[in-house]
Amino acid sequence: MSIKEYFSSLFTGVRSLIKGMEVTGKELVTPKITEQYPENRDTLKISPRFRATLKLKYDEEGRHKCIACGICQMNCPNGTIKIVTKMVDMPDGKKKRKLDKWIYDLGSCTFCMLCVTTCPHDAIEFSNEFEQAVFTREKLVKQLNYLPEKEEEPKPASAPVAAKPAAPAAAKPAAETAKPSDKAPQAAEPKTENKENK
Ligand code: SF4
Ligand code: SF4
Repeated sequence: MSIKEYFSSLFTGVRSLIKGMEVTGKELVTPKITEQYPENRDTLKISPRFRATLKLKYDEEGRHKCIACGICQMNCPNGTIKIVTKMVDMPDGKKKRKLDKWIYDLGSCTFCMLCVTTCPHDAIEFSNEFEQAVFTREKLVKQLNYLPEKEEEPKPASAPVAAKPAAPAAAKPAAETAKPSDKAPQAAEPKTENKENK
């Protein structure tokens, strides 16, 4: 190796080293985007749009909005949902079909969200609670209506509505009301005999 080749390769090596150190130095001062899970479980940020598991929406009084219509079950492409209904006696004495069990099999869900978008009562949603690891598949089958059903309050009796007197039918001109068939047959014009021609 000549002296010229020696210094050329030395220069190439030093240049490569500086370039590598430059990349390393830049990454050292760049803010970190990786999450130190599970150490940072309390401050972990998960995207609100992340689809981890399905859940029923409950209001502040502990009521859900599911009417057990079964549309989500029909629209689920792989049989993940099972809606079990029951008949209950209402305060007004009538019977009503209500939700008994909302069964969801997380293990077979493809997170397509068809059930959420087709629910007519906006009763379900995806939560981003991603810690769903269990040891057996059976534990992935969940009953989403976990809160006890609230009693329905009887509706206030509505005041009887006074019957309105029938409005007298406005007399219409005979020409408007009469059907063509109702019209009296027109008197046949008397035939005039031309006596002069006889
Ligand atoms: S979640 Fe929605 S679509 Fe499914 S049964 Fe309840 S109301 Fe019907
Ligand atoms: S997200 Fe898709 S696969 Fe999962 S329960 Fe809903 S409809 Fe079924």
